[in-house]
Amino acid sequence: MTQETIGSTARKALGFALACFVVRQVVIYGYGSGKRELRDLKAWTSAPGGSPNATQVSVPLTDWLGDWEEKHVGKRVHNFAEMDDRSLQRYLLEQESEWKNGLAFCLLPQGLKEAIKLDAWPLMARAWLRSFVFANLIYLGLGMAWAYYIYGVYGHTLFPKANTPKFGDVAEQVKVSLGSLPMYSFLPALCEHIVERGWTLAYVRMDEYSYATYFASFFLYMFFVEFGVYWNHRLLHDLRLGYDKLHYIHHKYNKENTLSPFAGLAFHPLDGILQAVPYFWTLFVFPMHALTYELMLFGTAVWTTNIHDCVEVECQPIMGAGYHTIHHTTYRHNYGQFFTYMDRLFGTILYPENSGKQHRNPKSVYDVAASK
Ligand SMILES: [Zn+2]
Ligand SMILES: [Zn+2]
Repeated sequence: MTQETIGSTARKALGFALACFVVRQVVIYGYGSGKRELRDLKAWTSAPGGSPNATQVSVPLTDWLGDWEEKHVGKRVHNFAEMDDRSLQRYLLEQESEWKNGLAFCLLPQGLKEAIKLDAWPLMARAWLRSFVFANLIYLGLGMAWAYYIYGVYGHTLFPKANTPKFGDVAEQVKVSLGSLPMYSFLPALCEHIVERGWTLAYVRMDEYSYATYFASFFLYMFFVEFGVYWNHRLLHDLRLGYDKLHYIHHKYNKENTLSPFAGLAFHPLDGILQAVPYFWTLFVFPMHALTYELMLFGTAVWTTNIHDCVEVECQPIMGAGYHTIHHTTYRHNYGQFFTYMDRLFGTILYPENSGKQHRNPKSVYDVAASK
């Protein structure tokens, strides 16, 4: 396997940027012809004068929004029929943002919300707080449930030699993660702001495209994300720029019995953000559904809990915990996120012993490990 240098990275980055630009132009040309204007879409509502169980009827989306605003605001503030597509998209995304805020902020005490005057916060600041609340919920809630089951309930079969992580290591992982969560939360908030402004190809309603296009975009988007995460991660190791200050924070847990589900977000905040950036820049390349993108971004917090638990479940081509534990111990393999494809393509795969797969050059692994 070759190690990247600053020069080879610069050449590859330039090539990738050009490829993204070409793909974006092709996508805009190809997909653009299939995109429907928001003003042309329909929404379902109860037939006028009917009971709640009355038959639903289809009305223009702009009419539905007018009725919705009158019902919730008390009057019609916007003339939706006259708004252009970008303004309609921004309005819908901002309403969606407030809906998500409602889900998160109902968990906060009313007294706290009043004390910090949450209602007066700008939308992006509210999006940051919402991301922070959800990130804590996923990290602590899922981490504790996961740890309870793998150590407390099934520990005797999953860790028969009682080789579970020490309390001090886990406490440090929790401390590092909780310290980084406020910074992590800036990325989704900033992305949301940029998407609302219409600067990306993200769209708000699934029926703006056909379902076939929705799924095609999703898979192409995730392919680009997987590619981006792989190279972001590999370059951190190959170039070692600021390695001791950045990625080492996560890699100090380099033995099997030091990793735990709580290590999943234990990064330097800048390192954690860097590894999530491909989710953002790919929004400029493919027309991704905005809410789906956000679910995938927060889904990585669930996934990263899974791959740090040291519980091996071989299921090709999934990049499970067995692969990621190897990454923590050899430093030179298995940089991928969800799948093994990228490591197989670029020659950095190292299969866990019980995978039944043959290593191409197992000797090199031990050479690298021994040099650390
Ligand atoms: Zn790494
Ligand atoms: Zn890791």
